[in-house]
Amino acid sequence: MSDADDIAEDMKGLAGISYLPTFDSIDEERRHRKERLAAGFRLFGRFGFDEGVAGHITARDPELLDHFWVNPFGMNFSHIRASDLILVNDKGEVVEGDAFVNGAAFAIHSQVHAARPDVIAAAHSHSIYGKSWSALGRLLDPITQDSCAFYKDHALFDDFTGVVLDLEEGKRIGHALGDGKAVILRNHGLLTVGHSVDEAVWWFITMERSCQAQLLAEAAGTPVLIDDDSATLTASQVGSHISGYVSFQPLYAKITREQPDLFD
Ligand SMILES: [Zn+2]
Repeated sequence: MSDADDIAEDMKGLAGISYLPTFDSIDEERRHRKERLAAGFRLFGRFGFDEGVAGHITARDPELLDHFWVNPFGMNFSHIRASDLILVNDKGEVVEGDAFVNGAAFAIHSQVHAARPDVIAAAHSHSIYGKSWSALGRLLDPITQDSCAFYKDHALFDDFTGVVLDLEEGKRIGHALGDGKAVILRNHGLLTVGHSVDEAVWWFITMERSCQAQLLAEAAGTPVLIDDDSATLTASQVGSHISGYVSFQPLYAKITREQPDLFD
C-alpha cells in the first residue's frame, strides 16, 4: 500500500467512516490545505503562541511534494489569510507570494518534511509552556489522559547552539524526531508533525497544554504516573492520527466562524 492508502486507512474511524476529505482536483486540495493552515495560524495567535517573528507552521504542497506553504516572515499569526501564505521550494526560494521566508523555518521544516514523507504538516513556535518545559531537557511523562497522546511517541533534541539556520542542524532535528509525532527542542520549544494540518496543529496545542499541566503538577507536588499498560492503551485512544484530526475540528469551527476573513 502507498503512504496515502495507509493514511486513509488510519483515518477511518467509527463504523469505517473516512474522516479524510476527498478532492476533485489538486487545486481544490491545495486550497483546502491553505485554509487549514491559515486557521492554524489564527489559533496560534489566539493561544498567544507568537514571540516576535518566531514560529512557523508548514504544509506540504499536494503536487510539488518538496515544496511547502508557510507564513510570510514578520506577519502576525492573527492576521494571516490563506492568500498571504507563501510557497517555498527545496532550495529555500519563495516561488509564490511576495514575502521573505524565515531562515529557521526553511532550515528546520525542509529537513523534517524531507525526513518524513508521511508528514503533511509541521508546527513549531516559542510558546511559553513548551519552551519552559524544554529547558528541563526531559520528555513529558504520562501524568494525564491527554499527555498519553505523546507516550513513547515524542523525542528530545538534546542540543542547543543558537538559532537554527543550518540545514545540517535541521537534519539532526528530523533525525531526533524519528517516526514520532513531536520533538522537544531543548532550550527552544516544541515541534509537532501530522498527516494533516489539522493533526499537526492539534498536537502542538495539546502538547503545549501538557507541558503546562506537568509544570503545574510538579510545582505542587509529585505527580502519580499512569502505568505502562494504561498509558499505552490511552495513547492508542487519544494519540492516533484520527484522534488528532477529530480533536482539531471544534477549534477549526470556532476560529472560522469568528474570523472568516482567514479564507480570503
Ligand atoms: Zn524556533
